[in-house]
Amino acid sequence: MVNVFIISAPSGSGKSTLVSMIRRSVPQLEFSISYTTRKPRGAEQNGREYFFVSREEFRQMIREDQFLEYAVVFETDYYGTACRFLDQAKNQGKDLLLDIDVQGAAQVKKKVREAVSIFILPPNRSKLEERLRSRGQDAEEKIQRRLEEARREIENYDKYDYILVNDHLDDSVKALEAILLSERQKRAGNPDANLAVLAENCRLENVRDRLDPILQSFREVVAGGK
Ligand code: ADP
Ligand code: 5GP
Repeated sequence: MVNVFIISAPSGSGKSTLVSMIRRSVPQLEFSISYTTRKPRGAEQNGREYFFVSREEFRQMIREDQFLEYAVVFETDYYGTACRFLDQAKNQGKDLLLDIDVQGAAQVKKKVREAVSIFILPPNRSKLEERLRSRGQDAEEKIQRRLEEARREIENYDKYDYILVNDHLDDSVKALEAILLSERQKRAGNPDANLAVLAENCRLENVRDRLDPILQSFREVVAGGK
């Protein structure tokens, strides 16, 4: 059986950093390369980060029912996961990792009920702002837009099975590995107790108390009228 892992996060939380590390450290994990109508950024290459297609090509794929899920993200571009990645993972006996947004995660959860979903959060709003700036990718206006989007996205945290607060990178990588490996082991009937404890620390019901200050740091800005 193929295990499907869904990872979502507000932009700048460190998702790409964590995903690229986990792809190197966790064996037998297939990564789904999404289709998008947005233009490539920086050194991105077609077929590596994304398959970059026109809106017409994307709509044709929708008509042909080629997507496991798709969504319009940031009100501008289409993004979608092709069904063939799930089929490939099944055929190769691998697990599948999806880096998709909140809307896509909900669609996959409906179709693949046993999929495991993980939401990555920054430690607070100012750390997120710092990371967006340090990445040096966006102009000021875009950074403010991403922060506003983050505020909205974060409110969906309770639709996920696990919440990973990405504070210290090394700890986050270990926790993410533990979630993937312990779910895999549990389903294969050979759980490792130490990994399970590490993973359980990130279970939604076990982190709720720690989330309040994070959520509050985003809500306060709105309340303060900024
Ligand atoms: P995302 O994919 O979620 O948009 P990135 O992986 O591009 O985010 O990370 C945003 C910035 O934050 C990058 O400059 C990255 O190096 C940095 N970063 C990621 N994780 C951490 C962390 N735990 N502590 C400090 N900086 C981090
Ligand atoms: P970016 O343009 O910064 O690469 O990604 C923007 C957002 O789109 C991220 O939140 C990312 O997770 C999401 N995304 C990437 N691929 C897909 C996809 O195939 N489906 C959905 N629903 N969202 C995606």
